[in-house]
Amino acid sequence: MLVDSHCHLQDKKFGRDRDDVLRRAREAGVSALIVVGYDMESSRRAIDIADSNESVYAAIGVHPHDARTVTAADVQALSRLADSATVVAIGEIGFDYYRNLSPREDQRRAFQQQLQLARSLSLPIVVHSRDADEETFEILEAYEREMRDEWPRDRPLGVMHCFAGDLALALRYIELGFVISISGTCTYPNADRTRAVAGGIPLRWMVVETDAPYLPPQPQRGQRNEPAYLADTVRFIAGLRGESFDVVADGTARTTAWLFGLGDIGHPAAHSLGERP
Ligand SMILES: [Zn+2]
Repeated sequence: MLVDSHCHLQDKKFGRDRDDVLRRAREAGVSALIVVGYDMESSRRAIDIADSNESVYAAIGVHPHDARTVTAADVQALSRLADSATVVAIGEIGFDYYRNLSPREDQRRAFQQQLQLARSLSLPIVVHSRDADEETFEILEAYEREMRDEWPRDRPLGVMHCFAGDLALALRYIELGFVISISGTCTYPNADRTRAVAGGIPLRWMVVETDAPYLPPQPQRGQRNEPAYLADTVRFIAGLRGESFDVVADGTARTTAWLFGLGDIGHPAAHSLGERP
């Protein structure tokens, strides 16, 4: 069993063959997927796809790239969209200081607004952080303090999507109650730091993702990425860890179910991974 914890099937690159992409994912053993929004429109489309396909779920939110566009009305609209039964998280939200497509003050404001939205809805968050290690950790550390009395001890606060920090930072996030998501970038020749994370964190705190259509694993590099390629990344991680493919596939699927509260992915242990650190 494989679960793709983060993909963008609503992207126009899947406009022509989305059903085929989903079929290939199932054939490759991907039993559930989370379609993640990055602006208002892509969040609505994530819900549409989740509503019309079994074991497909949605995360809704506005990416830091578009932070400057986020209005109070958007946050209210996201809150209404979250009523849909297939919405399992708020995201992707966070900081992107690499491309800086929105001013940093706007990124901070939109991140805070959407953190408070997740808090009010009791939903986990999907965090994007690029070239902003310190700022992201600081804001999430404060968030964890706020949530300490209101969030269940036996549920992660969210996931660090496509984690690109080092092992020490990954362990600090786990300590805070965040799951670490490993993408196909761990297969790239220059990705020693990500390999150290993929090999070094407890499986219980790891999920895997494609981030499709972006970031194809090394064998498919240069092509459009799709959820079926998740198996290549998991095989690679299993090799790094000296564990079997099934152990990593099943372990990360369980953790994804734990993180997002997915009861119906056919895994009896989905809700019994115990307390946060
Ligand atoms: Zn993404």
